[in-house]
Amino acid sequence: MAEALLEVTDLVKYFPIRRGIFSREVGRVHAVDGVSLRVVKGETMGLVGESGCGKTTAGKTILKLIEPTGGTIRYAGEDITGLSRRRMKRFRREMQIIFQDPFSSLNPRQTVGAIIAAPLEIHRLAEASEKEDRIAQLLRQVGLPAASMRRYPHEFSGGQRQRIGIARALAVSPRLIVGDEPVSALDVSIQAQILNLLEDLQEALGLTYVMIAHDLSVIRHIADTIAVMYLGKIVETAESRGLYKNPLHPYTAALLAAVPVPDPSRKRRRMALKGDVPSPVRPPPGCRFHPRCPRRFGPCDTAEPALRAVSADHAVACHLY
Ligand code: SF4
Repeated sequence: MAEALLEVTDLVKYFPIRRGIFSREVGRVHAVDGVSLRVVKGETMGLVGESGCGKTTAGKTILKLIEPTGGTIRYAGEDITGLSRRRMKRFRREMQIIFQDPFSSLNPRQTVGAIIAAPLEIHRLAEASEKEDRIAQLLRQVGLPAASMRRYPHEFSGGQRQRIGIARALAVSPRLIVGDEPVSALDVSIQAQILNLLEDLQEALGLTYVMIAHDLSVIRHIADTIAVMYLGKIVETAESRGLYKNPLHPYTAALLAAVPVPDPSRKRRRMALKGDVPSPVRPPPGCRFHPRCPRRFGPCDTAEPALRAVSADHAVACHLY
């Protein structure tokens, strides 16, 4: 089996809902509810689902930007779940995040040079005399001229700003990057450029990615494996090609049906996804997808389906299989 850089087992993240003068806990948001993932070194895992399904919380919890409620996170073979902030610092450098909105994640009052220099300074990765050369190298690596370091974020287009965000993430020479919808705020033509850049960087630097997306078409070409998430749970995982060719879970099928087909002679069976993701405060009993599932039957609203392997690289949580 190929070596994993990241292994997540039964990851849980609940957010307490508190009310009253004593801040009594009156409920919990079940944002991530028993997620297990295995991300192979040098590969890309796509984490896909509608907004509100918990994928961004899962991404942040994996990086320990949010403390998990339960489960284990192993990075490069080490259990990092309970590590203190101080002991996490070594790993923090190796695990970076790229945000969805490059504009709000870049400080508008700082030059691009200062933005990229910050992680170098925090982790003491460059002497003052080397800093400028390193920033210039990082900018060139993401396709921007070195002179960009003297300008401010508002002087750049959305795609260029995302390149700056990527340069900032690369500054600490990470091994794992979580991309939280890194292209969804960009025009389609720019999306392809940024995805190509991410692929080139992965090849050149041996990076491992977890790419979070709500649109399966966006990560089609970049992901080696895909995990589909619904209301805090993984409902299907598969090798990317297998998932696009043969989606098993009705939710995955519905997400794929929403993706436009470029060839009009190849019609995809439409399966509209009705309604919104239910509240994660009180997830539906049984299969969490049952209130929206066009194929629900007998056990669906009472028994929760487990994620079961249907082949060597395909698993699904649905009573149909
Ligand atoms: Fe639909 Fe039932 Fe499968 Fe859930 S378990 S996806 S409700 S068929």
